[in-house]
Amino acid sequence: MTKVKAYAAPSEGAPLVATMIDRRDVGPDDVQFDVLFCGICHSDIHTVRGEWGKQTYPLAPGHELAGKVTAVGANVTKFKTGDHVGVGCLVNACLNCEPCKTGHEQFCQNGAIFTYGSTDRDGTVTQGGYTQSAVINHNFVVHIPKNLPLDAAAPLLCAGSTLWAPLKRWNAGPGKKVAIIGFGGLGHVGLKLAKAMGAEVTVLSHSDKKKEDALKMGAVAFHKMDAAAFASLKENFDLILNTVSATVDTAAYFELLKFDGAFVVIGADPTPTVLLSTSVGVSKQRVFTLSLISGVQETQDMLNFCGEHNVFPEIEVISASYINEAFDRVVASDVRYRFVIDNSTM
Ligand code: NAP
Ligand code: ZN
Repeated sequence: MTKVKAYAAPSEGAPLVATMIDRRDVGPDDVQFDVLFCGICHSDIHTVRGEWGKQTYPLAPGHELAGKVTAVGANVTKFKTGDHVGVGCLVNACLNCEPCKTGHEQFCQNGAIFTYGSTDRDGTVTQGGYTQSAVINHNFVVHIPKNLPLDAAAPLLCAGSTLWAPLKRWNAGPGKKVAIIGFGGLGHVGLKLAKAMGAEVTVLSHSDKKKEDALKMGAVAFHKMDAAAFASLKENFDLILNTVSATVDTAAYFELLKFDGAFVVIGADPTPTVLLSTSVGVSKQRVFTLSLISGVQETQDMLNFCGEHNVFPEIEVISASYINEAFDRVVASDVRYRFVIDNSTM
């Protein structure tokens, strides 16, 4: 066991503080790496503020880790010292059940282990990427293409993979009209990915503050949502991705779907989603579904795609001492568009 520098919440809702956490010794299947950068996902905030239920504290959040390999175990052949690597939301799964075997480890029937706040198979509670070093099973580590800057690549590990999976599943591409609700960390990456896939992307926002940025990043249209916007966009989109961290009028947005379209809930507002009457969806063969992160191979595919198409997030790099202020700014929708911690400042 080694002690490493970290930023962790000492208790529910408390500000994060500098501390030390334990990392296990490098086992035969492990990759050890210096976590050079870690993105701040809204999920980190939901978790340490108790919005998703009780946690074990102290808890270091962070599931957008990017860094360089410092050591590998005897069985590891895919990674070597110095490689640029990332870890997203998953650090363990059985790898034998049907979801695992089909590349959907997040739905492991024997329990997916998430990067922080999960009780791992060895009984320890996982600690995330707000730390200077990590030791992770090689099956859950991915390569970051060399042309992607490590700080900007970090948010791809969650935001990128979370948007990639539904865009692929619902065939975003040429001729498809995609709408993204909420233009924050996830939403802006979704725009960039969908545009690079060839889709026509519209951003639906709760203010008009981000219009210029969205158009610059390639959106064909941007709407501040009000009654007139809902009326004008009726039955307009093939795919709608809701990335909002708060409650939205799901039923009203659902009406913006075309015949045979799909509405995907990604934002993890803790209040239950409003259920729709079956007649609404069935009458036009429209799908209402949810999406949870992505599997490891999908994450690697997304990173390779981003390397090939030079897709990377818009970031603001911060010192670790700014994390608590950054949290407040994320909650106030005042982030352009992902905070990334420079972990060397811990
Ligand atoms: P974020 O950067 O805070 O973005 C959320 C966006 O939602 C904001 O930028 C804002 O966009 C909109 N918004 C925020 N408060 C709002 C309000 N009161 N009313 C209307 N719109 C509001 O958060 P994020 O990191 O992208 O994460 C978004 C959500 O996805 C979080 O709930 C997170 O936990 C969840 N998540 C889910 C998965 C998954 O696998 N399903 C994975 C990662 C994260 P506008 O200013 O454009 O309106
Ligand atoms: Zn996340």
